[in-house]
Amino acid sequence: MKPETEVFLTTPRRLFWRVMQGAFFGVGVIILAALFLRPELGLHLLWNVLIPVAPALLVLAPGLWRNVCPMGTASLLPYHAKLSRRVPISERWQGILLAIAVLLLLVIVPLRHVVLDRSGVITGAVLLAVAFLAGGLGFIFDTRSAWCSGLCPVYPVEMLYGAKPLVTVRNARCNTCSKCVAPCRDSKDAMIPQDATRRGPGRWAALLLVGGFPGFIVGWYQVPTWEPAEGIYHLPEAYAWPMGGLAISLVLFLVVLNAYPRAQTWLTALFAAAAVGAYYWFKAPVMVGLGDPGAALVDLSSVLPAWSIWPLRAGVVLLFAALLLLPRSARPWSLRPPKQRVARSYASL
Ligand code: SF4
Repeated sequence: MKPETEVFLTTPRRLFWRVMQGAFFGVGVIILAALFLRPELGLHLLWNVLIPVAPALLVLAPGLWRNVCPMGTASLLPYHAKLSRRVPISERWQGILLAIAVLLLLVIVPLRHVVLDRSGVITGAVLLAVAFLAGGLGFIFDTRSAWCSGLCPVYPVEMLYGAKPLVTVRNARCNTCSKCVAPCRDSKDAMIPQDATRRGPGRWAALLLVGGFPGFIVGWYQVPTWEPAEGIYHLPEAYAWPMGGLAISLVLFLVVLNAYPRAQTWLTALFAAAAVGAYYWFKAPVMVGLGDPGAALVDLSSVLPAWSIWPLRAGVVLLFAALLLLPRSARPWSLRPPKQRVARSYASL
């Protein structure tokens, strides 16, 4: 009898995903090398190519991204090489890791204006340290529990933006499901960040993210970018704008939630649409060359009139509102692999 994993992920499928994972990992290595050796190119590839398309991908196909993310590949290398100790993480610690992930996100993003957007070496060093951390955690903890569905600062954003994906893929990371996290965000449909953990710091962090992220993004875009030597003197300004925006947006969210507690799912979708809409309100014009010419993904400035910035902005806001707010049948990020048969007992971490 064939093993269940072969039924779930046939050899051609497995090969396809391994090639994709290898290709994206290779792209990650090239960007990392460029950050050290050709900083201008590395910074452009990271901040003007990869990062601007990521939010849209998280809305449309978060499972696809999670199947190929280079950091995820680094984190799961020990698991696939059968070198991981696969220690389970308790529900309490899953909530703590989520809270730390949200904190990391809110601390790291403002540093872009201060140092990360302009210093290839520092950005490369941070990414390298994160890759080692992700890989190191993979040697100890089970499957996705410590990094991809734990400490990764992108994970909370995946949960916020990825509530209604258009595309579901097969889970190409987990050979079998050991229930490394519960609930599994990859396999369960229609989840919102607040569902990831029902109590403790993770619950509060989820509310902070959902309510505060639209204001955080609007505030972040009010801050200029400094050269690293100068940026250190502007740290208070770099944090004050996004944190101020976060506070206003969070208060608004909590007031409405308090008045209409049964509308939490819809309100979360509204704030997710507001966050991703705000991001592309500012970023979409730059991506097509109607802003800083050096930051364009595709420079269409010679064919697009200056006024096209407004229909473009309105279009992206409406598009993401439609994707996140219009009723649609729920689907998971990815299909869950067969269950692992060995019974496991949960340790404290
Ligand atoms: S499918 Fe199972 S093993 Fe994979 S991330 Fe989800 S809970 Fe963990």
